[in-house]
Amino acid sequence: MSPAPQTLSGWGRFPVGDSVVATPADRAGMARALGGDHGAGIIARGLGRAYGDSAFVAGGTVVETARIDRFRGFDPQSGLLDVEAGVSFAEIIALFLPRGWFLPTTPGTKYVTVGGAIAADVHGKNHHRHGSIGMFVERIDVMVADGTVVRCSRGENADLFHATLGGMGLTGMIMAACFRLVRVETSRVTVDYHRTADLEETLTVFESGDAGSEHSVAWIDCMASGRAMGRSVVMQGRNTLLGELSPEARRDPFGLPRKRVKSVPFTPPVGLLNSLSVRVFNEVFYAAHGNRRKVVDLDTFFYPLDSIRHWNRLYGPRGFIQYQAFFPRKSSLDGLRELLSTIVASGAASFLAVLKSCGPADDAMLSFLEPGHTLALDIPYRRGVIEALCGRLDRILLEHGGRLYLAKDALMDGTTFRAMYPRLDEFLAVKRRYDPVGLFASSQSRRLGITPA
Ligand SMILES: Cc1cc2nc3c(=O)[nH]c(=O)nc-3n(C[C@H](O)[C@H](O)[C@H](O)COP(=O)(O)OP(=O)(O)OC[C@H]3O[C@@H](n4cnc5c(N)ncnc54)[C@H](O)[C@@H]3O)c2cc1C
Repeated sequence: MSPAPQTLSGWGRFPVGDSVVATPADRAGMARALGGDHGAGIIARGLGRAYGDSAFVAGGTVVETARIDRFRGFDPQSGLLDVEAGVSFAEIIALFLPRGWFLPTTPGTKYVTVGGAIAADVHGKNHHRHGSIGMFVERIDVMVADGTVVRCSRGENADLFHATLGGMGLTGMIMAACFRLVRVETSRVTVDYHRTADLEETLTVFESGDAGSEHSVAWIDCMASGRAMGRSVVMQGRNTLLGELSPEARRDPFGLPRKRVKSVPFTPPVGLLNSLSVRVFNEVFYAAHGNRRKVVDLDTFFYPLDSIRHWNRLYGPRGFIQYQAFFPRKSSLDGLRELLSTIVASGAASFLAVLKSCGPADDAMLSFLEPGHTLALDIPYRRGVIEALCGRLDRILLEHGGRLYLAKDALMDGTTFRAMYPRLDEFLAVKRRYDPVGLFASSQSRRLGITPA
């Protein structure tokens, strides 16, 4: 008898769907999970940090990888790490930071798995310099539809490699991967804060400071309108060197402060993040960050939200979406202006809005970023209203040659997706080669028309 389906969602808690969940502990268990009838399809799931519906399939099977979590090898000469797909970034940091190694790039939470990070081809605050995680991945082992594990890299089964990187789990289940860690001298980041008056100044600060900054990101006040639209606090940083620490701090260069992790214990009946609370937060944040330099620890710089467990509950039972848009450099200013003014006019309250500048595209077929800018903002979900707003935002993106990030998407339609991802047909050909019956599917892939609805 198969287990009862569970109701699953992404981090935004919208939408939801019922899937049967398998939790294999090894390769044989993964292969067993593949067998049988999966109804609407089967899809891998890491820690469920993608926002929308990419890590579950309503009416199908979800394979959680959390127990596929062995460290298989590490080469201290090259920094090459060989791990199973269910190992999390948090576990890698815990083991390797004390030895002077850090992730080559990281999303804004460390609670992601290696498999999930590769499947989304995640990017961090250093994209403008180094691109996304794919740039550091040497090889991937993928269990494809017939249960065999295919090793792929840029030189071996390159079609599968380029489709699996950023392929959102639709080519198969990543079993293990080899990627490079980078050396750091301390667990601190030296950050220059710049408060900007408007969008144009924000982009100018990126332009002038990014080349010399390893990390760069702006918190943007999405409720500011008129001449203040796009005002931001830009944070440009670099890894702090050992010699820059005080003699006392030098005794424990890789230490991280112990912080009490707070938690949102239950979902309030009504979302607590409304336009009033967000406006107050934005005013306070903007006022609190003048121009200055500060040394902060890695957790504070890279993972500020990880200090509040289950913060996604603050949006209430209806959940929220994250809209992450990319604009190529030539249209960034105009595109961002139009997008921001549409959001401001809609009154949608975005508590968290982050702007980053982007650098080299990698060779993933569904690669999201290339030189330009990406804006990510959280919007509380309201049925009908948010669909209409996102439809308007999607049209602005299309007009400016932009695209939406699959790891955040919850609402895009198939036509829009096809227009934004020019290598989709190439991707689909590879999917058919390794998954001829279309076994791997998610609620997202069905909505986008990648797999039959
Ligand atoms: C607070 C927060 C901040 C974030 N910041 C960023 C950011 O700065 N940059 C960024 O790029 N992303 C960011 N993200 C998104 C997150 O990094 C990605 O969604 C990532 O894919 C989540 O990893 P996961 O292990 O939780 O995967 P899941 O969410 O479980 O799955 C995501 C996708 O990966 C696939 N997948 C998972 N494991 C495997 C596997 N073993 N084999 C094949 N496919 C698999 C799933 O099928 C799904 O399509 C953020 C998310 C949160 C919650």
